Amino acid sequence: MRRLLIAGNWKMNCGPYDAAELLEGLKAKKSEVNENVDVLVCPPFVSIGMAVKYLYDTDIQVGAQNLHFEENGAFTGEISGSMLTESGCNYVIIGHSERRQYFGETDETVNQRTKKALEHKLAPIICVGESLSQRKADEHYDLVKDQITNALNGVSAEEVLDIVIAYEPIWAIGTGETASPEQAQEMHEHIRNVVANLYSQDAADSINILYGGSMKPANAQELLSQADVDGGLIGGASLDADSFSEIITIAEELA
Ligand code: PEP
Repeated sequence: MRRLLIAGNWKMNCGPYDAAELLEGLKAKKSEVNENVDVLVCPPFVSIGMAVKYLYDTDIQVGAQNLHFEENGAFTGEISGSMLTESGCNYVIIGHSERRQYFGETDETVNQRTKKALEHKLAPIICVGESLSQRKADEHYDLVKDQITNALNGVSAEEVLDIVIAYEPIWAIGTGETASPEQAQEMHEHIRNVVANLYSQDAADSINILYGGSMKPANAQELLSQADVDGGLIGGASLDADSFSEIITIAEELA
């Protein structure tokens, strides 16, 4: 039985002071979460410490938005997996489309980062998804299959059980436009089949597949009730304590 995961991606928002305010609000509304739902916030690196401090006595976990694939050394501006575990993270987002688009992230670096995260017992949330032109050209299924196959290259059958995949159609991120529940379900089912072919049906049945792209309280119920949608990766709505906690409540009711 898969648990639902509701993960907030704060992107480049909320330094420590704003983070404290948002976390206060979240804590006031949702410090305890139904046992069948996992909740996670992914602040920018500089606010991870604040989040860990505020959330230590709650059911809300803390993750990061990226990690470097080397252990340490002369990589100015980068953060390693061991730094994240030492800071209290247990998840890390990898290969978000904004990183692919603006920071040269490729399937190869996504794969390197995934393996490094697993080494450090950080659960990778691997982001995949197509642009509008790729969908219009009917390339989206093949593209997502390739993104997953490349990301998981060299990942063992045991390790894959710790992985989370986030399907985030680029045309739905931060645009207010959402994939319809049917579009989300079709792609999630496809992703599960890809994992089944690469590993096993058991692995496919246990892996968490999140939907991301303008999820908000108004559409969360219909998206999260799809058979293969196991949670959400939420950007904009995770910056508002009321909206994020409403989505968590919706997940609790469905779990
Ligand atoms: C995201 O950043 O992963 C995301 C889905 O953003 P938004 O919810 O704002 O579309």
